[in-house]
Amino acid sequence: MAVRAIRCGTLFDGTGGVLLRDALVVVTDGRITSVGPAASGGVAPSAETVDLRDRFVMPGLIDCHSHASLVPGEGDQLGQLRRGPVPQALAATRNLRRDLAAGTTTMRIMGEEHFVDVDVRDAIEAGVIPGPRLLVAGRGLAADNGHGRALTSYDGVDDVRRGARENLRRGANHVKIFVTGGVSSPGPMPTGSAYTREEIRAAVEEADRVGTYAAAHAHGGPGLQLAVREGVRTIEHGALATDEDIALLIERRVWLICTFAIFMHPSGIEQGDGHRPAIMDKVRSARRVVAENFPRHLASGVRFACGTDSMHGLMPFELQTLVRFGVSPADALLAGTRWGAEACRIDNEVGTIEPGKRADLIALDGDPLKDMTALERVSLVMKNGVVYEDQS
Ligand SMILES: [Zn+2]
Repeated sequence: MAVRAIRCGTLFDGTGGVLLRDALVVVTDGRITSVGPAASGGVAPSAETVDLRDRFVMPGLIDCHSHASLVPGEGDQLGQLRRGPVPQALAATRNLRRDLAAGTTTMRIMGEEHFVDVDVRDAIEAGVIPGPRLLVAGRGLAADNGHGRALTSYDGVDDVRRGARENLRRGANHVKIFVTGGVSSPGPMPTGSAYTREEIRAAVEEADRVGTYAAAHAHGGPGLQLAVREGVRTIEHGALATDEDIALLIERRVWLICTFAIFMHPSGIEQGDGHRPAIMDKVRSARRVVAENFPRHLASGVRFACGTDSMHGLMPFELQTLVRFGVSPADALLAGTRWGAEACRIDNEVGTIEPGKRADLIALDGDPLKDMTALERVSLVMKNGVVYEDQS
């Protein structure tokens, strides 16, 4: 039995309670077994001690939307997805190490080709490569003429069903369907749906049948509303969401997964494809619309969490952007931890520092509740009770 006693200067456990000063977290075989004031003691003398008395400790970050193999700053994301499985796996190996080192201990992957995400998830679990715990989609379901189509498309109810079933047979944790247009592909950004009502319903049904859920890429408008009405659990991006769209999300208790960095950070689409005026125009327009609408959306009561959409290591930017849009620092930390776990339906396992949960936590130099840049100073990452040693 491996027992570790972690002394924390300040503990933000993600449960919504008060900050604990000088706390003790005990971890037994990768799971948290107790949390309380250090003064209460009660740890076996054989326990190994981790001294974080000068640090701010919080749950590991949960990135609810990424792609393991992609780097938006390299441009032509669909071209990147069309590479063979070996370049994809090698890129994923580099990218995911970066994510883990920056404090992301769980990540939801929203579409890869060649089922690379399934293999990479299993390689991480087997200890072959370092990386966050992954939840994977397998191939994203995209219409032949829709956004997100790389090597494979799925058209018609039967084909969508077959695609969803193949993903699930290969080990996908959830189903991803591309409903509306996107920022990184040329042409206008349609908010109509590339799929029919029946096709979306088929994806939702197949996910439901095996006890999981469907997630929809949707920026807003009629496509977003169709996906919500057909029963998806999460709406990905929502950059063009209207007040009416947000009201529907609230009514149906559907999660909004915000992804800011990919179009707001200079190293995202701007660096990758920003030299193409048609793309840069879309980037600028998305920035404008989001800056105008999100302060209102995020205060509306809609349930939200965050994803980097392949901006590896940039979860801090996502959470800092929430704060810039008026979210309190404490709620931003929750969006990056417990709320992400709830959105991905893994809150029984991760998202808070509580007895019974997996020992996923990070230590920061500085207090993000006072200064959100502290999130960029991750000095220790623990996943499943194991401290990650960055060798890059
Ligand atoms: Zn994505």
